[in-house]
Amino acid sequence: MLLTRFCVMRKYDHLCRTDRHPEQTQHLRRRMDEEIIGDGENGRVLGTFVEGVLKIAPGRVGRGTVSQACRRLRMPTRRGGLGMTALEDVGRIANIAAWAGTTSEQSIVKGMAPIVWMQEDMGRDSPRSQMARDMQERVTGWSTDHAAEIAVHVKQDKALRLTPGARQRGSVPHNLKCVIEGGNTITQKAMANVMAIRVEKEWNERAEPAEKHLAKMRLGGDISNPFSVVPTAQFLRMPDRFYRTALMDYLLMANPDAKGSPPCVCSSAATRTHFMTCNKVCKKSQAHCHFGKVVRCMAQATGANPRTGEARGAKGGAPRGEKTGADLRVDNLPVLGDGEKSTGIIDWCLPIAMCPTNWPGEDGKSGDVEAKAEADKITGNEYHADAARNGYEFYGVALSKDGGVFGDRFTELMRRMAAIRNGDVYEHDGRNEYGYREGMWSTKNVYEYWRKVLVVQMVIRREKYIDQAYARARAFWGSGQP
Ligand SMILES: [Zn+2]
Repeated sequence: MLLTRFCVMRKYDHLCRTDRHPEQTQHLRRRMDEEIIGDGENGRVLGTFVEGVLKIAPGRVGRGTVSQACRRLRMPTRRGGLGMTALEDVGRIANIAAWAGTTSEQSIVKGMAPIVWMQEDMGRDSPRSQMARDMQERVTGWSTDHAAEIAVHVKQDKALRLTPGARQRGSVPHNLKCVIEGGNTITQKAMANVMAIRVEKEWNERAEPAEKHLAKMRLGGDISNPFSVVPTAQFLRMPDRFYRTALMDYLLMANPDAKGSPPCVCSSAATRTHFMTCNKVCKKSQAHCHFGKVVRCMAQATGANPRTGEARGAKGGAPRGEKTGADLRVDNLPVLGDGEKSTGIIDWCLPIAMCPTNWPGEDGKSGDVEAKAEADKITGNEYHADAARNGYEFYGVALSKDGGVFGDRFTELMRRMAAIRNGDVYEHDGRNEYGYREGMWSTKNVYEYWRKVLVVQMVIRREKYIDQAYARARAFWGSGQP
């Protein structure tokens, strides 16, 4: 995907910016989109690279599914897509953005005679040159066509301006005059955002309520975009079956395994959410235990000295067969804030955002389920009080199984673990800290790496046991289906 992005998209993007007649090359761009992203309109095919990975046999998934998946490919990654801007869209905006750029402060051609002449011509109420008239048509056409989305973009931009440290996207053109205004802030990025808003709107219009809900609960989380985890792929065999289902899940494509599957061994309908919540399935999966190994790996790697959690009450640990205390105990945590302790008692859980009992209501938002799970850890058992009595800090942490969203406490714990440096504590400036020493990762890199590893491991295990659950259902009901 990165190769496609750098070799094809960037190059073509550059060509588009200098293309004086984008209308005439439009059909070519559409064909390239069909090759790479897929045929979104008719839902016949997904683009080559996704199809290559998914290996979907023709007719196995419906046209609607494919065209919805194509839309998600085009949505930005922060909105749960793969961030592939369609060249057809680029063709409509690149040329306008390039012109707007010539008058900006940094432009090297600013003030040159032909540019000034064009600017003057474009500034007239009825431009004389064909080029200016074409541009006028293009700008007004685009801005009237996208009026509704532009309004959303402006609102988003206002919110961005209030967020400290957020990168501005720039503005979009409304008419020809603002394209040539000196010091205009029109960017291709801003226009691309407007078009991305439209794609998402189109997706929303066609999505099922459950899909919409899942998409919403995943926003802002560390969504397990399987294409973005290749750097941590020592755990992945690509593209194996589980990787494929994880990718389909990410694109919110209906799982073809579910088609015609007999019910779960407990007689409930076989759905992904059911398999994630069903006791008969989950007990066998040992997802909690497996996830714990990964958390322990992280603690080991960062030097947090992982040990089993406190055995409550009884001397020498809880009696055999009974639950021992919290999941894990770590030391050496940097003490930076008021009331922080260097020893943490950790207890984790993997809640399911789509589980009906976790349903946060219509106006629920991403992070709600995880926050509730973390709060329940404090009220639900005595680890919290135990930790307090011993002068330790309690971390009830959550990562949602289907959302891939970390709770705030989990994020905080990971940041603190990532900041450990052989007993040296670096004063840190949030996640931007670069306490780099030779042979050692910066806090930020440690944090990002382990965060990815945790999500990837959770997703692999999840896909494996869902796969097993389908197989068991078939065997149990003896449907004889492969
Ligand atoms: Zn079941």
